[in-house]
Amino acid sequence: MIPRPVKNCTIALPQKTVAGPHQPRAGVESTLTPMRKNALVLLPLVFCLAAGSWIARAQQPAAPSKLEKVKDDLYVISGDGGNTTVYLTDAGVILVDAKFERDHDDIMDKVKSLTDKPIKYVISTHPHGDHTGGNEKMRPFAVIVGHFDARADMIRQKLPGAPEVTFTDGLSINLGGKEVVARHFSPGHTDGDAVVYFPALRVVSMGDMFNTGTFGVHIDYKSGGSIMEWTKTLDGALKWDFDTVIPGHGPVATRNDLIKFRAAVDATRTRVRAMVREGKTKDDVAKVLIDEFGWNPMGLGIRNDVPGLMDELKP
Ligand SMILES: [Zn+2]
Ligand SMILES: [Zn+2]
Repeated sequence: MIPRPVKNCTIALPQKTVAGPHQPRAGVESTLTPMRKNALVLLPLVFCLAAGSWIARAQQPAAPSKLEKVKDDLYVISGDGGNTTVYLTDAGVILVDAKFERDHDDIMDKVKSLTDKPIKYVISTHPHGDHTGGNEKMRPFAVIVGHFDARADMIRQKLPGAPEVTFTDGLSINLGGKEVVARHFSPGHTDGDAVVYFPALRVVSMGDMFNTGTFGVHIDYKSGGSIMEWTKTLDGALKWDFDTVIPGHGPVATRNDLIKFRAAVDATRTRVRAMVREGKTKDDVAKVLIDEFGWNPMGLGIRNDVPGLMDELKP
């Protein structure tokens, strides 16, 4: 189904998001209240397209999805929403993230093309709707797992798909003789981030703690994100033995890509902190983030995160 673009795009809107220090709440990113719909229905489509965020993208036709083999028994479904990791075992399937609700049938078709075993677990890497929108449709047959704070965030925002099994530090799922480890090391993208490790295959799924392609860095301050804490998650994950990284969005990457990203986050903090100390403006900082650190000029990070970032990095 292709949602009505103008109405739904409005979620990417002004709210407090452009003017305020924070970006939209995770829930707002995929769910509209009737009041918002009505209030914002007249806003032009061009704004929605200009928003360039996954919020806006969620309201456009779904990007064509692609099923790609990463390692034996491990696949990624890219395209619409966040990446979905698919891990096959003899006793059933473990997914990491379930995209938008509208992607459910496509995910099911792709999993069925790989195995006749049922999906048993869905691990959510964080509360955002492009990763959890499909959870409700999985719930009749799969256990939804996620961080304690991700569940709290989703319930606070009345988002569907909150995890029914939660953890604070981590947990492992052992199914069909295979192990999957989910860990929360620190806030970063949100305060309910989980990264997922497949030890036998030496692969990690990072959720939006690490993105390739154009999505870029997005610190959801309204959901407890933090640039200062972010690297603790990267450092925690880098203690694992892996060679392959499945990002929240974008093409599959390598351990070295994650190491480079860690350095870029660190350099960003140093640079922005210096600019704040020098009294630079929000526009100055945004320009540097785009020009020197490759932030997407249309992405959520530039649109919404700069005031929060500057506030967090105040000397
Ligand atoms: Zn995402
Ligand atoms: Zn996200």
